[in-house]
Amino acid sequence: MDEEKKVSRQRRYQLRHKVVGLCIICPKQATNNTYCLLHYKKNQECIKLRHKQRLRKDSEFRKFTNEYQTQRRIRKQLSEL
Ligand SMILES: [Zn+2]
Repeated sequence: MDEEKKVSRQRRYQLRHKVVGLCIICPKQATNNTYCLLHYKKNQECIKLRHKQRLRKDSEFRKFTNEYQTQRRIRKQLSEL
C-alpha cells in the first residue's frame, strides 16, 4: 500500500498548514493551534449545534423508553388481573 495515497489531499493540506501554524481551512495565521479566529468561531458553533442535536435526540429517546415501560407495566397489571 502506498502510504501517501491513504491520506487524502485535503487532510495533507490540513496537516501542512498545522505544521507551519496556519489555519487548517484557509491560509490565514492560526490564532489557536488549529484555526484562525473566523474558523475557530465557526467550529465552536458546529460543536454547539451538534451538542444541542444530541441533547434533543436523548430526550426523545428517553420519552420513547418511558412510554414503552409504561405500556409494559400496564400490560403486566392487566395480565395479573
Ligand atoms: Zn481559517
